[in-house]
Amino acid sequence: MPKNTDFCKIVATIGPDTSNEKAIEQLVLAGVSVFRCNCSHGSLPEYQERVTNIRKMEKKYNCTLGILFDLQGPKLRIGTFKDYRITLKEGDKFRLDMNPEPGDQTRVCLPHKEIFAAMKDGLELLLNDGVVRLRVDAHTADTADCTVIAGGELSNKKGVNVPGVKLPLSALTAKDKEDLKIAEMLGADFIGLSFVQEPEDIIELRSLMKSKAHIIAKIEKPSAIEHLREIIDLTDVIMVARGDLGVETSPELVPVLQKKIVSGCRKAGKPVIVATQMLESMIHNVMPTRAEASDVATAVYDGVDAVMLSAETAQGDHPYEAVATMRRIIETVEKDHRYRKGLSTLERKNDSTKEGAITSAASLVATNMDTANVIVTFTDSGSTTLRASQQRAGGLPILALTPNITTARQLAVVWGVTPIVIENLKNFDDMTAETKKAVLAQKLAKEGDNVVVTAGIPFGKAGTTNMLYVMNI
Ligand code: PGA
Ligand code: MN
Repeated sequence: MPKNTDFCKIVATIGPDTSNEKAIEQLVLAGVSVFRCNCSHGSLPEYQERVTNIRKMEKKYNCTLGILFDLQGPKLRIGTFKDYRITLKEGDKFRLDMNPEPGDQTRVCLPHKEIFAAMKDGLELLLNDGVVRLRVDAHTADTADCTVIAGGELSNKKGVNVPGVKLPLSALTAKDKEDLKIAEMLGADFIGLSFVQEPEDIIELRSLMKSKAHIIAKIEKPSAIEHLREIIDLTDVIMVARGDLGVETSPELVPVLQKKIVSGCRKAGKPVIVATQMLESMIHNVMPTRAEASDVATAVYDGVDAVMLSAETAQGDHPYEAVATMRRIIETVEKDHRYRKGLSTLERKNDSTKEGAITSAASLVATNMDTANVIVTFTDSGSTTLRASQQRAGGLPILALTPNITTARQLAVVWGVTPIVIENLKNFDDMTAETKKAVLAQKLAKEGDNVVVTAGIPFGKAGTTNMLYVMNI
């Protein structure tokens, strides 16, 4: 189960074999805090089953779990083939067209007129995650005759990336709008938006949303990097979506962009998730490669809020072992004195508001007092807790006490935070009583210890942090 001393969180994608009650239970026990449903796959009954099982485990283990519905976005895909798959060789001629008939060795359907409209001679198209590269030699409004630059296998519905061209596509397709409705109906805590290209994409999604779900912008397009600052500012959480990012840019740019995005999120005080291929080889093996262990560790050292598993838990052979492995890598880094030391030098939002000042003071008080082993935050919207997490005060665990269950679940992705749902507070005595109850139950303090508390008073008014209190338990 996610422990209150687990700082970096784990997001796990679930698939057909990891959606039943037993599977969800094992994933929770292995340390998952947020479950991701990838809307590229899945149907309403499947989603319902998942949500029911996740909420059941929340009750059973008295913990708080987030649910993310990840909208597919304008992911471009080819059609199908007569024999499911073909292999293209370098130098082969291959045609893309709008004909829905199954394809063969010479052609396949590309059912996106927008790509044909944006086509230029010499343009490179990347298929199947960049394995197959085609160069456009000639094109019309509904055909493109190409030469294969890099050969490989193509099978039904493989993805197509057109790096370097900003396609005139809305970030939300008709399918995304339907999936969004389903996600909100099922009580999603987070909505992921794929292939964000510009700030307007976030604004559009927000305008369509009826719930208070948090938006996770997936950074996987060069144009999102160009507008990174504004996208981060408009979004609740950012995901470094390294799979498509590596196709849209190049694998060697992924680490550089990952650092840039993580740093941008730190400076803006926004939570950030690093995703894709983190333990890829564990789809089939019980042990990660050393490079993968190192990759997860690097993200943790860099101060990310969460790391994510995709195919490893959605369709892999060892989903629980993948989570347990990730958890062990995280814990090992979090015990390293270099990591602890590094926390104080992580980039921070320059926050000169009273809320920021109170939070910095709380950090300072907690780190100066030997006996303070926890920071307790009272929050309605989550902002008081987010600020405390952003400070990484002495690497102490943070409790988020909130009457708002959605806020609690949204804080499940935030570094160092253990969310706890409480009744509405009426007065200061309620606050001290809840603090005592929570820290003792969580075994983060004993009678006689001091804990540092931050809150916004009056209670129930979102967005204010104006109180710092050192409480003797
Ligand atoms: P996806 O997004 O798994 O939905 O494609 C993540 C990524 O591209 O890395
Ligand atoms: Mn992607």
